[in-house]
Amino acid sequence: MGIIKCLDNLVAQRIAAGEVIDRPNSVVRELVDNSIDAGSTEITLYLEGGGIDKIKIVDNGSGIAKEDLPLSIKRHATSKISTLDDLYHLKSLGFRGEALYSIAAVSRLTIASAKEGKDGSAIVIDNSDEGTLYSDGIAQGTQITVEDLFFHIPARKSFLKRASTEANLCRQTLIQKALSSPQVHYRFYVDNALKLDLPSKATLFERVLDVICAENNFSRSDFVTTEKEYQDYSIALVASKPSLYRSDRSGIKIYLNNRQIEEFSLVQAVTYGYGELLPGGSFAYAYVFITDNPELVDFNIHPAKREAKIRNLALIHHSLSTLVRESIPRVFNTVEAQEFEQPFLTNSPYIKHQDEFRSPNPTYKNFSSSPHFTSEPIFNPKRSNDEKPTSNDWLEKAKAMALAQSVKAKEGETIWDTKNENEFTYLGQAFNLFLIAQKENKLYLVDQHAAHERILYDQLKAQSDVQKLLIPVEFEVSSDVDAFLKENSDIYTSFGIMVSRKEDLLWSLTSLPALCRPIEKQIVDFIQTRTGETEALESALYAIIACKAAIKAGDAVDSYTANAILSKVFNMENPCCPHGRTFVVILEEEQLRRMVGRTN
Ligand code: ADP
Ligand code: MG
Repeated sequence: MGIIKCLDNLVAQRIAAGEVIDRPNSVVRELVDNSIDAGSTEITLYLEGGGIDKIKIVDNGSGIAKEDLPLSIKRHATSKISTLDDLYHLKSLGFRGEALYSIAAVSRLTIASAKEGKDGSAIVIDNSDEGTLYSDGIAQGTQITVEDLFFHIPARKSFLKRASTEANLCRQTLIQKALSSPQVHYRFYVDNALKLDLPSKATLFERVLDVICAENNFSRSDFVTTEKEYQDYSIALVASKPSLYRSDRSGIKIYLNNRQIEEFSLVQAVTYGYGELLPGGSFAYAYVFITDNPELVDFNIHPAKREAKIRNLALIHHSLSTLVRESIPRVFNTVEAQEFEQPFLTNSPYIKHQDEFRSPNPTYKNFSSSPHFTSEPIFNPKRSNDEKPTSNDWLEKAKAMALAQSVKAKEGETIWDTKNENEFTYLGQAFNLFLIAQKENKLYLVDQHAAHERILYDQLKAQSDVQKLLIPVEFEVSSDVDAFLKENSDIYTSFGIMVSRKEDLLWSLTSLPALCRPIEKQIVDFIQTRTGETEALESALYAIIACKAAIKAGDAVDSYTANAILSKVFNMENPCCPHGRTFVVILEEEQLRRMVGRTN
């Protein structure tokens, strides 16, 4: 007997819906698109319970006729296109006829609507049932209410975050839409409180500057605006002057035909345009609005329309980077060496990064031209774990270690005991990686990172003292980690890491070993993402703590520190790192002599 069967309609519908609707903000994205397409000039969004309990949108657009209401929730039912060719003349944000269909499959959906001069009507569809149609006294426009999202799909619901986080994601989505639709007056209510009021604006630039300055505390004078027409397309640009930048590319937003899209090459075009104007590893804030001939654009490749195929991408890329280069005023950024005083490692090539780890805020202004003059240091992009830590950061860690071991250390002095100091001679550092020592008739080359990692690991195993945090660190977890922590938080207690549950999905870190203080954030990241067997968790946690806190390959190390590391290493029975790798190379004098042809 055959084993293939057609899926039940509702199952198929919910699978398809998963591509379009995965959390409250995707409902918001689709409903706002529909309201904009309907020509609305007033759009008001209400959320309850982060949008999980209720999302309601009210617009004053063209409305839906009574006979269209049952159709509007059918799959591929749309008023926006009718032939394949229409896809290449799109003027609307929607065209797939999937949003209301998908929302109807995963919630209780009510659509009330009236066209100009007509009586209103409404339809209620409960998780994809047939729906009930009735008259409604609504004025012209549409009101759509989405209640109990994913009520019948607990697995999907378990991926949602706390109500406040979901509400914030909805707010970001609304702002994203608002930037490219200045003609609309937006209002946003969360649990009946007005959280955002964006009156309509005469121009795109006014809307963008208004919103981004209010949301991020920027000043208008930090930005330039410009627009230019090309043969098939036009570009409008709001871009930060070199006085304002951040450490990643997330401040660069690309809009194509009024939709924000993910198109890395255009983000890159902006970056090229800034070129040397920004310090290495820094990126601008830029809002790029491209209006391209619809015939050259295909949005039909992603259900949520986050991506597009652009036939004239290379041309746009070139125009965009040129426009950026021509519009951004040139300012000279002077970085004075003495701005970066070195208390510990005077010769470190990484001097200018010294405050990086301590800075919680990714937005920095440059010294020279900013109206808000600040002596904050140049900020560099977040580094991968394998890259170099800062010299000053190292000092912090060293101090924490010293504290943990109650070793009295004066600044600039070694912080480990050096009882074996006389047994070996430290000769220097090679390739910013190997510490070279001579002991009796052997040369030792020690991988400084692996060695230090092992030293920290040993200290953790020995359980150093635990410190209560003055300000506990709150963090959010997904429901599976929440359930895991409820049962297993004592695993962490055994490491000296105390966590307590504040409310659903919200935990707080209250104490941790002194040694771990400088990497508090990494510990929280770890707890937030891990579940599993005690033993596996334990070794992963030990290895991570040791690895993150350790001095890195590539760090210049002063002789005090080198001596301290080496003396520990010479006391080890088996010098291998927590990952099991040997980190010492031994060269015997006799071997070396033979290599140069000496026999005695
Ligand atoms: P699409 O937007 O791709 O056409 P949707 O499922 O989002 O598909 O909407 C289906 C149809 O319902 C739309 O084509 C439109 O005719 C109608 N519609 C939805 N929302 C509104 C609204 N707010 N105002 C007027 N018409 C609407
Ligand atoms: Mg739509």
